[in-house]
Order: sequence, then structure tokens, then C-alpha cells
Amino acid sequence: MITTTKPSLEEALKTHFGYEAFRPHQRLIVQSVLDRRDVLALLPTGGGKSLCFQLPALLMEGITLVVSPLIALMKDQVDSLSANGIPATFINSSLSPEEVGRRLVAIRQGKIRLVYMAPERLMLPAFLEEVQKWTVGLIAIDEAHCISWWGHDFRPEYRQLSQLRNIFPGVPIMALTATATDRVRKDIIEQLHLRQPRQEVASFNRPNLTYRVLPKRDGYRQLLTFLKDRPQESGIVYCLSRKTCEELARDLVEDGIAALPYHAGLESAIRGKNQEKFLRDDVRVVCATIAFGMGVHKSNVRFVVHFNLPRNIEGYYQETGRAGRDGLASDCLLLYSSADAAKLSRFINEKTDPNERKVAARQLSEMMSFAESSVCRRKILLNYFGETEGALPCGGCDNCLEPRQNFDATLPAQKLLSCVYRIKERSGFSVGLTHTVDVLMGHATEKIQKWGHASLSTYGIGTEFKKREWLSLGQEMIRKEYLAQSQDDFKTLTITAKGVGALKQRDPITLTKPLSSLRPRRRKEVEGGFDSNLFNSLKALRKELADERNVPAYIIFSDATLRQMARERPTTLEQFRRLSGVGQRKLAEFGEIFTTHVKRFIP
Ligand code: ADP
Ligand code: ZN
Repeated sequence: MITTTKPSLEEALKTHFGYEAFRPHQRLIVQSVLDRRDVLALLPTGGGKSLCFQLPALLMEGITLVVSPLIALMKDQVDSLSANGIPATFINSSLSPEEVGRRLVAIRQGKIRLVYMAPERLMLPAFLEEVQKWTVGLIAIDEAHCISWWGHDFRPEYRQLSQLRNIFPGVPIMALTATATDRVRKDIIEQLHLRQPRQEVASFNRPNLTYRVLPKRDGYRQLLTFLKDRPQESGIVYCLSRKTCEELARDLVEDGIAALPYHAGLESAIRGKNQEKFLRDDVRVVCATIAFGMGVHKSNVRFVVHFNLPRNIEGYYQETGRAGRDGLASDCLLLYSSADAAKLSRFINEKTDPNERKVAARQLSEMMSFAESSVCRRKILLNYFGETEGALPCGGCDNCLEPRQNFDATLPAQKLLSCVYRIKERSGFSVGLTHTVDVLMGHATEKIQKWGHASLSTYGIGTEFKKREWLSLGQEMIRKEYLAQSQDDFKTLTITAKGVGALKQRDPITLTKPLSSLRPRRRKEVEGGFDSNLFNSLKALRKELADERNVPAYIIFSDATLRQMARERPTTLEQFRRLSGVGQRKLAEFGEIFTTHVKRFIP
């Protein structure tokens, strides 16, 4: 009897994908499927979910069905598998019936390991009949949160997937998502009838992302400075309105930065073309509404800027999460202004459903406290997702890198408190923070005239701060519970018992110094030195090869692999093979080209 030793999972990982090691949770997930167990995998964006079914697909008998909601993404994934020499295909509405026919033939002949399709296609009775003739080894459901009402992207087509368990009783089912709430998790297990699934829940920390918030002044200038600091990098600028997307993209082009807009108001052909140009590194910046992103798996997005305030923390996290899928250091910048917050607040007030209004208002106020807080940004994000561990300082957010100083704010805080007090005393009603600050600063607004607040003793006594600084101090006093804000639309202020105590006993009050100047500092490169000239010329070579093959550049090699190349300068195939991201197929196809290029570059 011949005994063959099976290659270890690590060996298979290197051969097929070129990676040296599994990312956290990947190995356990892969092993569980190989043991034919159901799996629920919750990994953040960039956590490496695709590999969790792609590797088993190669090691198991039968075909792996991959259900995905995003037609655009299927091609990208199949291209990237093909680049690694893995036979995969997709079947969707973008193909002609003849082409579908050809692909089905290849599948029946056993030439294909993975088949991607949308749920509505898979669940067509005639198509299901076809699929039942195949030997199916694994069913992987990507973006599995789409099955849940409680998810942020419910899709009715996903509900039909509940029948899969009955139709394929012996086939393990794997569900993958980056949405971590308990409710969604339970819903997925129930809807898909998973049988005691192995649940792997990764931390949602993204250690390679640096989070920064800057008060928005001249937003466009700040954005331009940020982009000019990173002349070679590409990224996304999220805006609230379509108009802003258009204007920013136009202005950036005038300032010499290749940018394009993306929003739902664009004709779908143009939208598709703009996305494609971004994926292919033909433009480096896309100015987009939140319509852009899901299904963009470009791995070398080096930054995400929020030009306007996001509506909630979940959205902010998902959007910033699109940076740095390749694991390299990437920047997230939020330009924060209270005017943006006020605009969102107006939108919320226009909602007719009171419940919806309440939820949206709460989410917005959480988002605002995130922006104004002097606490570690990462800590706030992770707490939001129910994670409490994590080392501080995190080393990757503005508040940890450049901690904001506290100052003795007893005097200004007393001024603010007494101003709230005097207004109530004079008028018999309470007002919001903005009006209070206007009174403190001695402004001549319509309301001040109408209500006679210019004759208050606290009128004009607060000239030591700018308006934005007063607002930020006021917000902090609300967070620290010296003041309470009403839950209705008017957000009127009242002094709390703690505030009254502080005012009467002249307790010292410490607050954070308001953010003042623009600090466009960059995070230190954690990857260590690499030759940036060589890196840029490797990038150019990669782009050339990608264009020849009609695929995005990151499908040839990720930025991470190119950087390693620029650092280690491999000149032999043996050295080249050791790079992370170089498997057997890429070694054969690109080894010669890249090592020759490196040799020519070395003096
Ligand atoms: P997700 O779907 O979870 O957002 P992806 O599957 O798109 O993540 O993977 C993100 C990136 O990480 C991809 O570029 C992928 O090739 C890379 N990757 C996945 N697993 C590994 C690994 N074990 N080592 C190195 N890179 C990996
Ligand atoms: Zn931090």
C-alpha cells in the first residue's frame, strides 16, 4: 500500500496563496470545515474571510458553492483566484446564456473548484436541479448578515437560503460576515439551520489603522494638505451629499490630484467606470457617498477621509475599515464640524417615524461624542462592539499619540453654568448650547434681541475662547454631567445637581483643551525601511502587467508583497519564492520578470 503524507495546512497555504502564516482564526475555521462542521465566522473587514473557504475548497472533495450578493465582486474574486492558478468561475446575470452554458459544461467536467453566484440565481428551481447533480463539498455564504432583518443590509433574496439545509443535508455550511452583533449572529444560525456551528469571532480591532479627528476649518485646504502629504497613495473621501462629491472631485483635479466622484445619482455605467478606474489605480482618489464601498475589495486603500460627519459609529467603522485590507499601516481622518452635525440633526428631525428619529438621534450623539472625545478612539470603537480588552495607549490614534492636555477650566465652566442659570431665570425657559454660547460671547443674534438677553450679567463675559472652543467645552460638560441636554429636538440645557454643586462650592473643574491646530502628522511606518524608488518602479511594473491582463493591480501582488520585495530585493527565484503572497503559480508567472527588474535596479 502506498501511503502519501498529506501536506500540512501551512504548506497548502503557501503553495496556493503564497502566505507564510494564517491570520488569527483562519486555521481553526479551515480545520473545522475540513472536519465537515458548520461554521459561523465573524471577522472584521480585511480579516481574510475569503481564504477561509477558498483553501478548504482546494483540499476537499467536490465543488464549493460561494453565495455572494455582489455581482461586481465575483469577477474580482475569480480573477484573483485565477491569478493563483485556482480554477474558479462565477455564474450571474452579466453573462450571456451561451457563456453560462460553457461554464456549466466545465463544472460538470469537474474542472472547477469554486463557483460564485448570487442567492436569487442559486435558488431558481431549474438551477437548483442542475446544482443537485454536482458533487457539492461546501456551501459558503458570504455577507451572511444580509439574511437578517437586524443587519444593516437586509436582502430578501437571502431569506430563501434557509432551504439549503434541506436540499443539501450532508453538506457543511459556512456563514461569513463582518457584522458582529449578537442578534444578527443568532439570526444567521437560525435562518440557515446551522447545526452546532463552530463560531469563530475575531476581535474587531484593526491595529494597522490610525484614527484621527481634526476640527474642520477650511475643509478643502485640510483635505488637500492631507492628500499632498501622500502623493503616491490612493484612498476614499466620504462625503454626505452628491453635490459635495462632485465639487470635491472637480476641485481636486484642478489642484492636480486624480480624483473621480461616486454616488447613486450617477448613471450606472459612469459609476461602474469610475469604480473600475479606482480599482485599477487609474485615479487615486474617489470622492464618494456611502453608496460606495461594500464590494470594493481593493486591498491597497491607504486612507479613508470623512469629509463630513458619518451618521453613526457603525457606519464610520465600516467605512474606515475599507482602508488597509492588506494589513499595511493606513490612515483614517475625520474632519469634524458642528455645522455638519447640525445638518444631520435637521435630516433626522425630518423623519416621520418617531422611533426611527429617536434611534437616529442617539446614534448621532454617540458619533459626536466619539469625535469630541479625548479618550482613545480605538477604545471607543471597540467598546461600541462590546469589546473591553485592549492595551492603552493604542499607539494608533490622535488621542494616544498626541494626548490632549487638560486644563483648569473652573472659571470658564462657571461662566457657562451661570449663563445657563441666568437665561432660565430671566426668560423662564431653557435654551440650547449654541444660544448660550452666543450670549456668553456677546453676539447680537436675532434671538438675543428678541429675548432681551443682551442685558444679562453674563452677556459678553466669555471672550477668551472662540465659539467652536466654547461649544466643545460645553459638550464636554454635558458628557461629564455638569449639564444635561433635553432629548427633544431643541436640546435645551439644564444644570444638573453636580453642576449646581460645582457652581455653589466653587469646585475645581478640569476639562480637555479644545482641539486647535491642524496636525497632519503621519504615523511612523511600522514595516521598517524599504527603498521607495524601487517600490515605485515595482508598482509601475505591476500596473503594466495588470493592464495587460485586464485586472486590477492588487490582484497581481498586494502592496504588502511589493514592499517586502523593495526591502528584500530578491534576485533569485528561491528568494522570490519566500515572499509572502508568492505561491506556486505567481512564482512561475512573475518570478523571472520581477527578479530581473530588481537586478537591473541594484547598482
Ligand atoms: P475580508 O473578506 O475578511 O474583508 P479578504 O478575504 O478580502 O478579507 O482578505 C483581505 C486581504 O488579506 C486580501 O488581500 C487577502 O489576500 C489577504 N490575506 C488573507 N489571508 C492572509 C494571510 N493568511 N496572510 C496574508 N494575507 C492574507
Ligand atoms: Zn488610541
